[in-house]
Amino acid sequence: MTDLLIHNLAEVATPEGSAPLRGAEQRRIRRLAGGEVVCRAGRIAFVGSPEERRRQFGEMPEAERLDGQGGTLIPGFVDPHTHLPWAGSREEEFAARLAGKTYQEIAAAGGGILSTVRSTRRAGEEELAANVLRRMDQMLAWGTTTAEAKSGYGLNQEDELKQLRAIRQASERHPVDLVPTLLAAHEFPPEHRQDRGRWVDLICDEIVPATAEAGLARFCDVFCEVGVFSAAESRRVLEAGVRHGLAPRLHADEFADSGGAELAADLGAFSADHLMAVSPAGVEALARSGVIAVLLPGTSFFLMKRNYAPARRLVEAGVPVALATDCNPGSSHTESMPMVVLLAVLQMGLTIEEALAAATLNSACSLGLGSEIGSVEPGKRADLVLLAAPNLLHLVYHYGINPVAAVVKGGRVVRRAG
Ligand SMILES: [Zn+2]
Repeated sequence: MTDLLIHNLAEVATPEGSAPLRGAEQRRIRRLAGGEVVCRAGRIAFVGSPEERRRQFGEMPEAERLDGQGGTLIPGFVDPHTHLPWAGSREEEFAARLAGKTYQEIAAAGGGILSTVRSTRRAGEEELAANVLRRMDQMLAWGTTTAEAKSGYGLNQEDELKQLRAIRQASERHPVDLVPTLLAAHEFPPEHRQDRGRWVDLICDEIVPATAEAGLARFCDVFCEVGVFSAAESRRVLEAGVRHGLAPRLHADEFADSGGAELAADLGAFSADHLMAVSPAGVEALARSGVIAVLLPGTSFFLMKRNYAPARRLVEAGVPVALATDCNPGSSHTESMPMVVLLAVLQMGLTIEEALAAATLNSACSLGLGSEIGSVEPGKRADLVLLAAPNLLHLVYHYGINPVAAVVKGGRVVRRAG
């Protein structure tokens, strides 16, 4: 594999380290003007001045070159919360929402998650994988190099595992890496509406063990929410996951305070996600335990809510904050991390520096990958994004455009704009 030299950059902008950044640390971004980066054998071998690079590596006549054209180099985005493997589409439901119907009214009329469950159950593994690959192309175009992907539209063993196999198949065929999560506890399937306990038993006793045995997931997730899975039911599911080697992360306190943040803290989960309705005690618990808050402002935006997660309060309490798209067909239909960064800054009050750390290093840490990816530092995997922007601030300042000029994955240029 030939070396890659990235040169002619206005700046390299990156968080540093392999641990989650919290509090005042979260805005500590290294901004290196006129830097160069050398990638060797898939990893970052050098970040520094052109003079220092020449001193250490010489002229590098054999190396492949990526001309930065006066742009800004940042780490590849890491999207730690998506629902990628779905079939069907819900634009009619979206139009009904625009006409004034609420998400809950639409769900009560047979729409919502259960409508996607029906189409996903009908789809074959190949069709699902093709859908995932199409979405991964979008992700890559917008600078995402690693993403988490959840099941949760099968709601029975066969179809949950089918979704997870589609994730694995797509990940093997595409430059973007997917980290798989079992989310059988996304909803109660129609056949178990009258017998909720039976569905929780099935997840704990059959679906979690089968998933673990097939090596199809790294994480186990649950939709801990008033009216969906209670904190007690969520605990059972997540503890079953832990017993079978699936690490916990969860949907917590999205629409109402359901004790999800406290549960995440108690279990030492990798992340507590959404948190739009998190209580002061929940914030405290997250801060004490070091659980990463994964915030999904695209969901508030797309559901046309004024209520965003209290990002400033979380940062000030010392909770490491990460960002994700929540890419799904109902409440946040986007693959774009730059869009999420924009919303985090303009609607949740993060600084651009905090948002960059949230969308790269902190999101990598929430997937247990902080020592591998999430920053532009020697030793890390060379997953990088070149922005056609004279500095980091333009990532938000020039909005509504795709700023990604090129994407490097594992030391290879895998995408160029235009
Ligand atoms: Zn979700």
